[in-house]
Amino acid sequence: MDVVVVGGGPNGLMLACELALGGVRPVVLERLTEPNKEPRSNGLVGQVVRMVDRRGLFERLSGQPGPPQANSSYFIFAAMPLNLGLLDDSPIYNLPVPEIKTVQVLEERATELGVEIRRGHELTGLTQDDDGVTLTVRDPDAQAYELRTSYVVGADSAHSPVRKAAGIDFPGVTYDRTTSRTVHAVVSHNWLDPTTGALKVPGHGPVMPFLPVRTARGGFSYAPLPGLPPLVATVEWDQPESDEPMTFDEMRASINRVLGVDVPIEPPPGTGPHVLRRINGGNTRVADRYRDGRLFLVGDAAHVFAAGGTGLNLGMQDAINLGWKLAAAIRGGADVLDTYEAERRPIADRTITYSQTQAALLSPGDDITGLRQLFGELLTQPGVVQVLADLVAGADVRYPVGDGAHPLTGWPAPDLNLHTPDGTVRLAELIRRAKPLLIDLTEDGDLHADGVEVVRATAATDVSALLLRPDSYVAWASSETHPNQDELHNTIQQWFGVPVNA
Ligand SMILES: Cc1cc2nc3c(=O)[nH]c(=O)nc-3n(C[C@H](O)[C@H](O)[C@H](O)COP(=O)(O)OP(=O)(O)OC[C@H]3O[C@@H](n4cnc5c(N)ncnc54)[C@H](O)[C@@H]3O)c2cc1C
Repeated sequence: MDVVVVGGGPNGLMLACELALGGVRPVVLERLTEPNKEPRSNGLVGQVVRMVDRRGLFERLSGQPGPPQANSSYFIFAAMPLNLGLLDDSPIYNLPVPEIKTVQVLEERATELGVEIRRGHELTGLTQDDDGVTLTVRDPDAQAYELRTSYVVGADSAHSPVRKAAGIDFPGVTYDRTTSRTVHAVVSHNWLDPTTGALKVPGHGPVMPFLPVRTARGGFSYAPLPGLPPLVATVEWDQPESDEPMTFDEMRASINRVLGVDVPIEPPPGTGPHVLRRINGGNTRVADRYRDGRLFLVGDAAHVFAAGGTGLNLGMQDAINLGWKLAAAIRGGADVLDTYEAERRPIADRTITYSQTQAALLSPGDDITGLRQLFGELLTQPGVVQVLADLVAGADVRYPVGDGAHPLTGWPAPDLNLHTPDGTVRLAELIRRAKPLLIDLTEDGDLHADGVEVVRATAATDVSALLLRPDSYVAWASSETHPNQDELHNTIQQWFGVPVNA
């Protein structure tokens, strides 16, 4: 066996799909017998939306034809509106889809690609040696068995048994002052503005949908998600801890404390599952290492952030980064496994900044209110909005590149329309099989690259050639009329070895 992925959540399943596209059939161990029904994220935000399009998954996840469109209206940062209309080119993409559906789509895709998913199978221990890893697994009948494999990837949540078995620390910060409450609820139509959809709160003013408010006592948000009952949420500081089950009365009391108004929310009709959740505190942590010998970490096993909305943007792109490298190492291609942490960890570190800035700007106190006033003024400047939008999207960290590299190198390939002899095709469609690709845009069209598929095309760009990795990142590019073929071949050798398309 080549790879065992521990954890069949979104990131483990995404990795399994990537490995299968790379020609490796992994086994996924998932201790739950059925997909987790607990509502979690409501969608994908950031560059990951472009990436799912580059795997042909955008239509399945969104239920709409592609390509994804950038959000050029508003996004929220620390309960303040980010006016993305100020930007020429917004980096933020939104794909509203409940995590339960994301898991379902990825599980279906993995199965189509021949991945074996063992539900009800729990990892109970592992040891590694120079040649491989031995795992102990408990099956659905509580019988123990062993598996031997070349590599193991822990996609097994923040509590990651794989990370613990590898002895990898998970340093960071636990915030214990906040209590977040979230419910699915219905509000009487008398309280809603039919034109804007805002919640009319007497004495407070309208609360716009999806635009959280911060008061001196906490935060409140009202999110009427399509196809679901509205999601109502509060966050408060320094509340007495409670182990009692969360109730609707508790939620009403929390809203009253935050807004100073008794908002008459009611449980939604139907059986749900409906959210009725209290979370005390939160964690912002990044694993000390993403790799220990033959063990790797992806997703929440590698990083968690107290500020929401980032987990899947990071985790699914971890999977897309690691998948082809692991497949190449197994199939005798170049060993570039150490670039996984070198490329992905700086993005997790940057997300700490994202998380902590929001936490600071949302916290109570008059000094923070003053800071928010100034911050709000800065948000009228396009340059400031660009910095924050790039931060939200995870679009501000370039993968490491050598001196003198072309400006596109180390970034995801631009979304080009390519005119080929067979017709016009989007770059996102060409890279769906997750193979290295040379796009020859030279006038002569005479670039060649052993072992790499070549597409000759024209496009509205100054670039004359692009070498793409399977994850659609630019490995090499040229804007010369006659690109340097030695440079191209050296890059192919460095990233893919030869041959790569066997
Ligand atoms: C309330 C809430 C709201 C969130 N909102 C957002 C949001 O809006 N946007 C966003 O991007 N992220 C959000 N997140 C974070 C997001 O849900 C996580 O980042 C994501 O689920 C992580 O996926 P994963 O595959 O890494 O881990 P998980 O989804 O946790 O999957 C890990 C899997 O490993 C399995 N497992 C664990 N141990 C073993 C074992 N020993 N053997 C076999 N299997 C094992 C578990 O059963 C589980 O299925 C939210 C999280 C929560 C809790």
